[in-house]
Amino acid sequence: MASYDTIIIGSGPAGLTAAIYTTRANLKTLVIAGQVAGGQLMLTTEVENYPGFPKGILGPELMELWRHQAERFQADFVDDDVSRVDFHSRPFNVWVRDQRYESKTVIIATGAKAKYLGLPNEERLKGRGVSACSTCDGFFFKGLDVVVVGGGDTAMEDSLYLSKLCKTVTIVHRRDMFRASKIMQDRVLRTPNIRVIWDSEVVDVLGDQKVEGVRIRNVKTGATSDVKAQGFFLAIGHTPATEVFQGQLELEKGYIVLHPRDGHATATSVDGVFAAGDVHDFRYRQAVTAAGFGCMAAIDAERWLQGKSGK
Ligand code: NAP
Repeated sequence: MASYDTIIIGSGPAGLTAAIYTTRANLKTLVIAGQVAGGQLMLTTEVENYPGFPKGILGPELMELWRHQAERFQADFVDDDVSRVDFHSRPFNVWVRDQRYESKTVIIATGAKAKYLGLPNEERLKGRGVSACSTCDGFFFKGLDVVVVGGGDTAMEDSLYLSKLCKTVTIVHRRDMFRASKIMQDRVLRTPNIRVIWDSEVVDVLGDQKVEGVRIRNVKTGATSDVKAQGFFLAIGHTPATEVFQGQLELEKGYIVLHPRDGHATATSVDGVFAAGDVHDFRYRQAVTAAGFGCMAAIDAERWLQGKSGK
């Protein structure tokens, strides 16, 4: 059984940034990177909004560089998933299958996955017009027509953002009313280049090499029709990767709830456990903000340890 100053769970932008900071602060660090390491950027193509890459960079390439940078400072890595944690006693215990690891602090950076609809051609056209991040990909659809699916605050926010870039935005929603807050709905309904198709679900994405439209079905009449569009944005929610933490710390709708205290902005409901990135942040969800949170969590863990040792 190995013992660490900090265990970082997750290896996306938040986890790897935390590792760069904890190792450079001389904390003995274990990164439990996950079976599918690298986070959401591994699923993207061109990343144009990460600072420092004026020509853009492919998501997987960026994560590879990030990983090399984290490895350079000698963190231990385990490329597997966490099976179980125990935050009720100290030091904290984290298991990967039957292997137990002990740590004085834990940084959770397991992220959140965008939900997709599971349509026949959705996966094939990901990165070719199908996207779950308007902030990341909206720019590629400047002056074009796009469809957004969903009726929550994210769908409203995404549609408003896209309406400033795109020629038209069509929201397809499965009911006859939005779930989003009234103020966001009002903004959407007042925007001239946004239209709403109510009571309809998207049944497939159309296009050979790239998205050319979507097929929709009216849930009341059963009638199907096609909407021409070059972009298809999913805004039907995210699933934070927190199953393994249930009953261990406070969660709300699956997201980790932060309890900032003693100057530690990334503290959770368990003293000594910190959270970084999309696993708690449902608002910004960007690589650069996740990296920022990773840095904050590492500094918090380091200062927390310093406080405990009375240095
Ligand atoms: P959400 O509130 O859960 O809304 C998801 C939307 O997607 C709902 O309208 C839902 O339809 C629809 N949907 C879900 N599964 C679907 C499916 N299989 N097919 C078609 N439609 C589907 O998720 P969210 O909008 O991502 O928001 C998550 C949380 O973040 C919320 O608490 C939200 O208030 C918050 N948030 C706040 C802001 C802000 O304050 N500006 C911005 C973004 C998010 P139904 O309505 O029919 O269920």
